[in-house]
This record gives sequence, structure tokens and C-alpha cells, in this order.
Amino acid sequence: MLAEKTLQDKVAIITGGGTGIGFAIAEEYARLGCRVVLASRSAEHLDTAVERLKEQGGRALALQTDVRDSDQVKSMVAKTVEEWGGVDILVNNAAGNFICPSEKLPAKGWKAVVEIVLNGTFFCSRSVGRWMIENNHPGSIVNIVATYAWTGCPGVVHSASAKAGVVAMTRTLAVEWARHNIRVNAIAPGPVETEGASQQLWANPKARAALEATIPLRRFGSKEDVARAAAYLASAYADVITGEVMVMDGGQWLGGTSYFAALADMFAAGEK
Ligand code: NAP
Repeated sequence: MLAEKTLQDKVAIITGGGTGIGFAIAEEYARLGCRVVLASRSAEHLDTAVERLKEQGGRALALQTDVRDSDQVKSMVAKTVEEWGGVDILVNNAAGNFICPSEKLPAKGWKAVVEIVLNGTFFCSRSVGRWMIENNHPGSIVNIVATYAWTGCPGVVHSASAKAGVVAMTRTLAVEWARHNIRVNAIAPGPVETEGASQQLWANPKARAALEATIPLRRFGSKEDVARAAAYLASAYADVITGEVMVMDGGQWLGGTSYFAALADMFAAGEK
């Protein structure tokens, strides 16, 4: 764990910060002294989250925003600056996802996911990056992606394609904005138990067990694992890290195909 005050008085915008991984990141940032802005659509998600953060002694603000709408994003960034004087960190965490065979995926479903993940990440990065550049203010952007951005994954072509775009955006902006002292990194978690993911991706216990079996470490990651990594990447400890995609998936994408996992089980049992 990073020491308290590691992010003292910084200002971080966390999209989708009212639930799941985004909320865990908000809690960790607040614990480290950061002022957090939670930006998503549902007032209920945001208000509950802000209340919990305040109960824990954190400083938090809710700004209802649909990241698909560039005007709403601009106004969210302007309100953050008005309220807290600037912005140091942006976490692009908001996403939508559901399983659907590609040939059956309606245009509406494709667009919804691509607009939240790819367009939303760009709109937020552009507005925050623009403010940082105009004000000669160093900063850090952390994008939450997924390993299927490069492995692919049946049933989530919309999300995999959008996350692949975000990986390309991470590396592009890392180089383009390095001269402005803006670092841009990403985290690719493996499966993490959150309400959103559990309902949409492994509601069936059989699917969950099969998924866990593809992870060499044989366990899902936790929201707190991702939150600690997001704090590290945003902190001064990661001062020379930019353009990086930090994978935290228990080895899943390296050796986690069912064949590799089965082989590992055989070796462990002394079989050849
Ligand atoms: P989650 O709780 O469902 O989080 C998604 C968040 O996105 C919600 O807070 C939602 O808030 C927000 N959101 C959705 N559409 C939005 C929009 N148009 N504008 C603004 N905010 C919007 O799911 P999670 O599991 O924590 O996922 C968080 C991130 O981790 C995502 O980027 C996901 O792809 C990534 N990830 C998760 C896993 C996993 O296993 N859980 C694995 C790899 C990567 P509102 O409903 O209030 O808008």
C-alpha cells in the first residue's frame, strides 16, 4: 500500500467512480489524500458513493455526466476546475459490456459500448489534456482496459474492439503529450468480481468456474488490487512510466487458455 498523503491535495476525475472498480479507486485515492470527482450517469450511484467517501473522511464531488456526450464532458471538467482549481489525474474507467454472439449483435448494442468506452475515453482525455496543456500543468491519465483488447474474446466483440482502441489511444497520447509532462498509462485487469461484471459476464456459476480455471493463479483479482495499481500509476513513484499497459490477471492471458491451464495441472500432478 502507498503511504497516506501520497496523493495529498491532488484532484482526480474518475469516470464510473460510483460503482465497482471505479469506486474502489475513488476510495484508495481519497485514503491517499486526493480530492475525487465521480462522473457517471446515475445520480443514485454517485450520491451513495460520495456519501460513503465522506463518511470515511474523504473529499468527494459528484458530477452527473454521460461520457458519450462531449459537451457534458467539457462542462464536467470545467466544473471540476471551478470547484477545486484544477485537475491532476483522470481515470477513464466507465464502460458498458454484455455478452452477445457477434453475428447477432445489433447496431445499437455495438454503438453503445463503443461510444462509452472509446469515444468517452477520448472526450474525457481531450478535455482534461487540453486544460493541462493550456495551464502548463503536469498530470496523469489511467485507462482501464482488458486483456481481450489483444487476445480477442468470443461474445464481446464491441468491448474488445473498443478497448483495443483505448490501448492505441494510451500509447499515442503518451508520446504526443509527453512534452507537456502528461503521462498516459493503462491497467488491464483479469476477471474481477463486481456487481456489473458478475451480472453481465459470468452470472452462470458454471461459466464462472470455467473462467477461474483459465487463470494460472486460480483466483479472480480484487477491486482493491486494481485500485492500488491505479494509485501507483498516478503517483510520483511512476514518474517515468508512460505508454504502459499494466496487466494484472493472475497470468491468464499468458498461460490461461484451457489447454495451458490443463497442462499446468498435469505437470503439477507429476504427469507428462
Ligand atoms: P461497473 O461497476 O458496471 O462499472 C461501470 C461504470 O461505468 C458504472 O459506474 C457506470 O455508472 C459507468 N458508466 C456506464 N456508462 C456510462 C456513461 N455513458 N457515462 C458515464 N459513466 C458510465 O463495472 P466494473 O466491473 O467496475 O468495471 C469497471 C472497469 O473495469 C470497466 O472499464 C471494465 O471494462 C473494466 N474491467 C472490468 C473487469 C471485471 O472483471 N470486472 C475486467 C477487466 C476490465 P452509471 O451507471 O452511473 O453511468
